[in-house]
Amino acid sequence: DEPEPRKEKVAIVGAGLVGCLAALSFARLGYKVTLYEYRDDPRNETTVDRNLRSINLAVSDRGIRALNAVDLEMSIRVLKNILPMRGRMIHDVDGHQTSMKYGLHNEAINSIDRAYLNIELLNELDRHKNIKVNYGLKLMKMDFSGKNGNPRIYFEKTKKVANTLEENAIRTFEYNFVIGADGAYSATRFQLQKFVRMDFSQEYMDCCYIELYIPPGASKKYKFQLHPNRLHIWPRNKFMLIALPNFDGSFTSTFFGPWDLTESLDTREKVIDFFQTNFKDAVDLIGLEQVVEAFLTHPKCSLVCTSCFPYNYKGKCIIVGDAAHSMVPFYGQGMNCGFEDVRVLVELVKKHEYELESAFNEYSVTRQQDLDAIITLARNNYTEMSHNVNTTRYAVRKKMDAAMHLIFGDKWLPLYTMVSFRGDIRYSDCIKRSKVQGWLLSQLELGVYGLGAWLAFKAIRAVVRDR
Ligand code: FAD
Repeated sequence: DEPEPRKEKVAIVGAGLVGCLAALSFARLGYKVTLYEYRDDPRNETTVDRNLRSINLAVSDRGIRALNAVDLEMSIRVLKNILPMRGRMIHDVDGHQTSMKYGLHNEAINSIDRAYLNIELLNELDRHKNIKVNYGLKLMKMDFSGKNGNPRIYFEKTKKVANTLEENAIRTFEYNFVIGADGAYSATRFQLQKFVRMDFSQEYMDCCYIELYIPPGASKKYKFQLHPNRLHIWPRNKFMLIALPNFDGSFTSTFFGPWDLTESLDTREKVIDFFQTNFKDAVDLIGLEQVVEAFLTHPKCSLVCTSCFPYNYKGKCIIVGDAAHSMVPFYGQGMNCGFEDVRVLVELVKKHEYELESAFNEYSVTRQQDLDAIITLARNNYTEMSHNVNTTRYAVRKKMDAAMHLIFGDKWLPLYTMVSFRGDIRYSDCIKRSKVQGWLLSQLELGVYGLGAWLAFKAIRAVVRDR
């Protein structure tokens, strides 16, 4: 349905995944939307270096719900090329693979190329007459010196697309309100901090990541060299390799490891030795020369967690997505959470009948606990992926957790299920429920071990007595 047009104009800073969804959502509410993006239109780029630019994302229930909430048909179009991953495939050092399903009901998280998803969303923006996108403009400054305290935003024309005369020229615009979706190093957030007593924290994780690439196999009939419906993990305690499937039969693989270790692997010999020792089966798929090349030449990227509070200044500016909360990628929730931000915000704008100050204030107050919760969960999941999945205790607890879910249904949901497949449960409630369940599981575990110890004691006593 055509929305009732509204007279207020909104500027969205950043045409990444979350900025695009925010643009679609606010246009659907009837606002006139202008998006500003400092890069060039990615659809104009003639070459995309797959090895360096193709981070794969797992889209899960929260992300899909947020897309559906804007427009079901749009959501279907945008997600048409996802590959479901129904569980993890654990690769041990000898190359043995163990499959661990995510849920009892065949639930899946879905692999999609980030650049591809961004382009699909940009294509959707073009379908709306209420949305305009300006590329090559970088937010430099923001204040609230406009009419009625409206935000004024100052952009610099980025060099790449500037013509010689206008290079670096500052452009100023005034809007009724601004949504900052400009990523982890958000300039909007930085500007906002001058007007809001904002708590802010930033923490680098001692973890570096490097992209690798597993090409499709040679067979014309079946292109995948690994199970296509699994998220593959080579967990090695302090470091790990993962791989997510692509539609063309390839896999995007990522190495995660401490900085010291990663930087110490600085010669061909060291890289070969390290990979042959730890990831022999992966090397066979990637190719030895390709591993060396990737490890020595691909960018070594850092992982940063940021959090802040509040997220808004009156009804004039609000930040969403990584701009408000960047997290480590180990729960596959960064974008899903950013999409959920937009859905929650839109619901509040409707609830407050377009009175933005109340809507934005309520968003800040109610959303904080959920954002803090998912940042913590994401951080903790590194140990689960790189270490715990290797342990027997983890496997036993997983089975017990699944059994309880089978017995009690919705009343007992494993944490991963709540976070990834039940977007109707708030992140903060996922943590609360899982703490109670975890305690009960521990009691059960003690009971099982206690029973085991008691039986062992009885058996030993019987043997000793017989003597
Ligand atoms: P961004 O994607 O960073 O977009 C910000 C946009 O703003 C960019 O286009 C940028 O050019 C633009 N911009 C920046 N500054 C300015 C400025 N001053 N002026 C104008 N424009 C500006 N999430 C998941 O949900 N599932 C996953 O499986 C997953 N895996 C990940 C794996 C890795 C290795 C990493 C690093 C992240 C992963 N994430 C995942 C997280 C996900 O990529 C991010 O949460 C998501 O991209 C955030 O989107 P965003 O739009 O908020 O920010």
